Amino acid sequence: MEQDTMRKLNNHLGTYFIYLFLLIIGFSCNLDQKGANPPNIVLIFADDLGYGDLGCYGHPTIKTPHLDQMALEGMRFTQFYAGASVCTPSRAALLTGRLPVRFGLASSSMRVFFPWSLGGIPREETTIAEVLKRQNYATGIFGKWHLGHKDEFLPLQHGFDEYYGIPYSNDMSSVTNDWKGASLFPPIPLLDGNELIDSEPDQSKLTQAYTKRSVDFIKRNKKNPFFLYVPHTFPHIPLFASEEFKGSSLRGLFGDVVEEVDWSVGQILKTLKEEGLEENTLVIFTSDNGPWLTVGDTGGSAGLLHQGKGSTFEGGMRVPMIAKWANHIPSGSTSYALGSTMDLFNTIASISNTQLDGIEGQDGVDLSQILLGNKEKIRDEMFYYLGDELFAYRKGKYKIHYKTLNPYIGEKAQSHNPPLLYNLEVDPSEKYNLAAEMTEKVIELKKLSDKHLDGVVETENQLTKLDSVMIAPLFGR
Ligand code: MG
Repeated sequence: MEQDTMRKLNNHLGTYFIYLFLLIIGFSCNLDQKGANPPNIVLIFADDLGYGDLGCYGHPTIKTPHLDQMALEGMRFTQFYAGASVCTPSRAALLTGRLPVRFGLASSSMRVFFPWSLGGIPREETTIAEVLKRQNYATGIFGKWHLGHKDEFLPLQHGFDEYYGIPYSNDMSSVTNDWKGASLFPPIPLLDGNELIDSEPDQSKLTQAYTKRSVDFIKRNKKNPFFLYVPHTFPHIPLFASEEFKGSSLRGLFGDVVEEVDWSVGQILKTLKEEGLEENTLVIFTSDNGPWLTVGDTGGSAGLLHQGKGSTFEGGMRVPMIAKWANHIPSGSTSYALGSTMDLFNTIASISNTQLDGIEGQDGVDLSQILLGNKEKIRDEMFYYLGDELFAYRKGKYKIHYKTLNPYIGEKAQSHNPPLLYNLEVDPSEKYNLAAEMTEKVIELKKLSDKHLDGVVETENQLTKLDSVMIAPLFGR
């Protein structure tokens, strides 16, 4: 009898412990979903890589096995846009989720920051890194910043714990550039944090150095959430590849350089896998603007899209975008949704469960439901600024051009009245102007873009603040 009671008691206790165990498991899973264990974010940003420069976007001879594999295991976007068609405003849009025209980082007279620039990203702007700091993420950037190189504008003053890289473009040097103005440039600085650690570094070692720092950053932060931002210096010209990649690509030096960037992506993905972080890390790869088409075979390709870097035709701003997050993003999927680099701000805030305040992410939308395969479309319009002027506007499948400019050939912008109208779903190469036969559509789009312009208030411009002593010789003074 006593043994019977003991057996019953044991059974009860056993059941009790099983319930307790299940409760703890359920509770921790619930915490996971609610963001107690938010995912790591890795954002890899190529420079001047065009829509047609990757194997998985149709390039016939550039080999990008790691990015192709990433697309096979994740989602590839076909209608994803950089925030601008040149470096500085594009990076400003990416890191803030706001149109750079709203905070002085877009100018028609000075399109990017140069070594003689005095301005930078304003203190009031919130970067993705600052948003993620609210959730105690470790934040690192290894690569090209290009949002101001004076101390107050450097990454450590804008939400990043660690920085290693060159603060602006790799052609802004008298050594690597024979343009008249380049003779005034000081040697290219290589920074570690806020410190200058080298001048005119060997650029053939940069991709490997950024990769090494990135891998080390992941390993050191594997136990806490982290944000790793890798804005590569390449394939912006002048092109440099390491000894291992030099002369290896069928596409020549441009191919060598892209294939080394692809290798770097592979190293980062491999590290995430080895450290068991694959299922808790969202990895995104995209580019800051289209290919530089006027630099011969050292520039990339926009594939079937018209024009490239510096243009508001599709080739200037539509870029490759691949996202991978094991067991979250459907593998081998393609999204035809519109997306912008500005949306990454809102998307990352959403998946890290971070609240945005006021105007933060004002021009971005949260794409997380597209990434998770739950929705096909969220964004419906796109603004194409050149400098601080709205050149073109897309609503749904239609795009209207008020002005166009064939960049880097000394041409002036051309105004179009009536504006040009293209159906981008039928005609992604922007060959067939529909304005004459669709006058109502032109009026409809014009009304919408005018409404947008009414809401844009420009502030003090950062790009036009220049060091007058440094630029004096340019004007013969
Ligand atoms: Mg660029």
